[in-house]
Amino acid sequence: MKILVPVKRVVDYNVKVQVKSDRTGVDIANVKMSMNPFDEIAVEEAVRLKEKGVATEVIVVSCGLVQCEETLRTALAIGADRGILVETTVELQPLAVAKLLKVLVDREQPGLVILGKQAIDDDCNQTGQMLAALADLPQATFASKVEFVDGKAHVTREIDGGLETISFTLPAVVTTDLRLNEPRYVTLPNIMKAKKKPLERLTAEALGVDVTPRIKTLKVSEPPKRGAGIKVPDVAALVDKLKNEAKVI
Ligand code: AMP
Repeated sequence: MKILVPVKRVVDYNVKVQVKSDRTGVDIANVKMSMNPFDEIAVEEAVRLKEKGVATEVIVVSCGLVQCEETLRTALAIGADRGILVETTVELQPLAVAKLLKVLVDREQPGLVILGKQAIDDDCNQTGQMLAALADLPQATFASKVEFVDGKAHVTREIDGGLETISFTLPAVVTTDLRLNEPRYVTLPNIMKAKKKPLERLTAEALGVDVTPRIKTLKVSEPPKRGAGIKVPDVAALVDKLKNEAKVI
C-alpha cells in the first residue's frame, strides 16, 4: 500500500508573527519556516506503517513556493521514500490544495492519504475533508490512533468529551491529531540520505488545476491586548466580581 502525505511549509510554531502595517496579512519575510507540526505527525505515522510492513512506499507532497523543497527534504529525512513538489507562486487556499491533491491521488492511487488536521498558519482545518469529498473517499479526521485489521482501517478520533473509534475500507483519507505519535528526531545521516532521494517537480498548470484564490482576506488585526489582572481578598469578592463585573455567572 502506498501512503501519500501532504506537507505544508508554514511559519515555525515558535515565531511570534507580526501583523503587516497595511493589515493585509502577517509579515513572513525573514521568519523561520518549518513543516506544519500536524504534518510531521502524519509523516511519522506513515513511516511507522512502512516500518511495520503495512505500507510499501511513503510519498510526500508539498504545494507552494520552490522553498517547499526544504519541507519535503525534512519529510524524506524522517523516512519518506520520494517527494513531489507542486510549484506555484499563487497563495494557495484549501480548495486549491485539495484539487491538486485529488489529481495526485488519481495518479498515484495511494491506499491512504494522511494529512495534518490543520495548518497552523491559516487554521483552516478543511483540506483533508475537501480532498475526501473530491476523491469520494471515506475520511477519519482528528486521528489519535490508526490500526489496520483484515484490510480495514480502525481510527480512534478525539471528539468532544471522549474518543470515538470508527472502521472503514481503504483507500481513505485520515487527518492527524496531536496525540497520534511523537515524531522522531531527524538525524544528520538521514538528512544527508534525504538529499539523494527522488523529488519530482510539477506545476499547478501542468496538473490542469485552477488555483486562483476564491476567498479574499479583508483585514487582519492583532488580538486585543489583555488588561492586567487583580488580586481579590476572598472567594466572596471573586464571586461578586464574576457576577456583577464580568457578568459570567
Ligand atoms: P488546512 O486545511 O489549511 O488547515 O490544512 C490541513 C492539512 O492539509 C495540512 O496539515 C497539510 O497536511 C495539508 N495542506 C494544506 N496546505 C498544503 C500545501 N500547500 N501543501 C501540502 N499540503 C497542504
